[in-house]
Amino acid sequence: MSTIKEPSFRESVDLMFNRAVALMDLPPGLEEKIRVCNATYTVRFGVRLRGEIQTFTGYRSVHSEHMEPVKGGIRFAPSVNQDEVEALAALMTYKCALVEAPFGGSKGGLCINPWEYEEHELELVTRRFAYELAKRDLINPSQNVPAPDMGTGEREMAWIADQYARMNTTDINARACVTGKPLNAGGISGRVEATGRGVQYALKEFFRDPRDVEKAGLAGSLDGKRIIVQGLGNVGYHAAKFLSQENGAVIIGIIERDGGLFNASGLDVDAVHQWLAKHGGISGYPDATHSENGAALLEEECDILIPAALEGVINLTNAERIKAPLIIEAANGPVTAGADDILRKKGTVIIPDMYANAGGVTVSYFEWVKNLSHIRFGRMQRRQEEARHQLVVDQLESLSDAMGKTWSPSPDFKQKYLRGADELELVRSGLDDTMRIAYQSMREVWHDRADVNDLRTAAYLVSINKVAASYRAKGL
Ligand code: NAD
Repeated sequence: MSTIKEPSFRESVDLMFNRAVALMDLPPGLEEKIRVCNATYTVRFGVRLRGEIQTFTGYRSVHSEHMEPVKGGIRFAPSVNQDEVEALAALMTYKCALVEAPFGGSKGGLCINPWEYEEHELELVTRRFAYELAKRDLINPSQNVPAPDMGTGEREMAWIADQYARMNTTDINARACVTGKPLNAGGISGRVEATGRGVQYALKEFFRDPRDVEKAGLAGSLDGKRIIVQGLGNVGYHAAKFLSQENGAVIIGIIERDGGLFNASGLDVDAVHQWLAKHGGISGYPDATHSENGAALLEEECDILIPAALEGVINLTNAERIKAPLIIEAANGPVTAGADDILRKKGTVIIPDMYANAGGVTVSYFEWVKNLSHIRFGRMQRRQEEARHQLVVDQLESLSDAMGKTWSPSPDFKQKYLRGADELELVRSGLDDTMRIAYQSMREVWHDRADVNDLRTAAYLVSINKVAASYRAKGL
């Protein structure tokens, strides 16, 4: 085991940032301005629960306000701390710039173990946290817009939105104060699956260029690729589900809090997910080998490793033993800066977090726009689109009649062609486009610059350039 001290999460992000800016020609003052976290608010508040007052500590960190509102999820976990929230806020700045979501970076967290509380207790705590943030404009449709993260989901976002609306009864845009809400409370179709879906689109784009696939020492397409996933929560579950059910990948390993499951011929992701929901863990799942030391499964042979749980899991203690030639960082910060150095030297290709999990903020952006425009995507165009397509089909049919021929398209052609796009299709199309374009911008730097040997540095270069351009344009 290495005796070198691992940097903190925020230091790790800064080290990666520094590696990229060393290759840029930014004025030192601007470089520093972009790196630092603008503000972090700590709130401590009491909630009366089970007959006594419990004090909770929460954070909301604003990394960069080069664009507003700032955006970033709220995490509920006992380990939440200022360093972590600031690291995550910085990643949000770079992520939003990379995928051209017009936001600055922010992040929030509450020190709580959500599993220890009843639903009504969590609602009280969440509403009180939202109140503390909203009264300081740290939740606000035009200034700071949270979203789900680890330990939070649609339910918490609905409570936050409602709390904000109660405090701002005349704000017509109140629903845009938070994203990731349920559909019936101002959410958007496809948000829950968005981050996992983005991981799928990212891998699809990676496999479109044989040069990239070759760099990872792989060949062919996603079909048949062996994948190990850590964390079967929102992000990991959706990524694993789509990759196995739609792209032919084989999920050979799943790691959760209580260990790892392995089955060389493939795990049924939905079945494991249902088992996890029912039993609170994966142990006892029948169609796989279970080992208590889940982290050891990270080191198992596979084609693609998807850490989708928490930060720092690939670090100085295990990086050397990681065998996967391709890692896609679905979680934020799963690979520490030290581990990143080791893996790069080994030739492991890493698709970095700021790109890989940007699907969530991308669809959050669509939700925010939907809330501000007060109309569902596709509502105006859908039937008109169908009517125009019907005209084409009618014309083709009458043309073939006139020629004395029978027009016989494939059975589902008419059904597919005539259907106007609904909100979910539009969201997926916008997400796919975003993930492709952002990857292509990284790929260009990765391939074209002799001094850039990895996708993470390429991602930082693209995003820091965008943030710098923003500061230059508007002044400080
Ligand atoms: P989640 O709470 O839905 O899921 C996390 C999963 O990881 C849970 O199933 C949990 O049991 C598991 N887990 C926790 N500790 C573990 C451990 N030590 N080993 C193995 N598994 C463990 O959270 P999520 O929303 O899926 O977020 C996961 C990661 O993705 C986080 O890093 C988060 O910041 C990042 N992320 C999430 C979103 C989003 O839209 N939810 C967007 C971008 C990035």
